[in-house]
Amino acid sequence: MGTRFTRLDSGTTNCYLLEADEGYLLIDTGYEEDYDGFREELRERDVAVSEVEHLLLTHHHDDHAGFVADLLADTDLEIIAHEAAEELLRTGENDRQHGGGYLNRRIYYLAKLRKLLNPGWDLTFPPVELRPDDVRVAGDDDEVLRERGIEGQVLYTPGHTIDSISVVLDDGTTFPGDAAMSWPLWAGIRYCPVFVTDVDELYRSWERLLDAGARTLYPAHGDPFDAERLRENLGAYDDDSLVEFF
Ligand SMILES: [Zn+2]
Repeated sequence: MGTRFTRLDSGTTNCYLLEADEGYLLIDTGYEEDYDGFREELRERDVAVSEVEHLLLTHHHDDHAGFVADLLADTDLEIIAHEAAEELLRTGENDRQHGGGYLNRRIYYLAKLRKLLNPGWDLTFPPVELRPDDVRVAGDDDEVLRERGIEGQVLYTPGHTIDSISVVLDDGTTFPGDAAMSWPLWAGIRYCPVFVTDVDELYRSWERLLDAGARTLYPAHGDPFDAERLRENLGAYDDDSLVEFF
């Protein structure tokens, strides 16, 4: 039987809780203000926060690393992240030094509207300092999960950010973080993240996910979808489609 998991709906971001050898591995947190909701989701499942032994961050963004600092205050979990995340987590700010932009004009205006309605939204989060025992993965890693009782691998899947990693379980269950998303499809995203640092690199990451046996994707934003959607939409966008950050 494959690794069992559950989806936690504590806010904007889908977090996933996977059963490990000891306790659980959590994939991503949410915004800082989602922490109480997260604790509530754990309570509903009879999981103590101290049982969350591992936290895999798919990347450093505010809506993924937002309550890491709270978790570190309340538990002694270990963090697993890409090595490029270390510096970005320390800054407490979404990386805007590596180019890219919003996927299309519709997303750009949606982001503008969001900022108008929520002026406090500033792409920052409480800084996180990785500790010596936290795990920095340097690229694809076929050991780090297995050593913790999870039947799957970590793939380096940049394109959304430079530090993006995905989890691909042996049965094809895949957690891409923001390397692919299904919300908001109505805005024409075609499974791309709403902002992208490098479109070509993103599609190369999709190809690597498919090659690694991805079957069903459980994104951080939106509902699960079949990996065939990635194959069908490969190359739908290019760097010229992007609209610069405001
Ligand atoms: Zn992101």
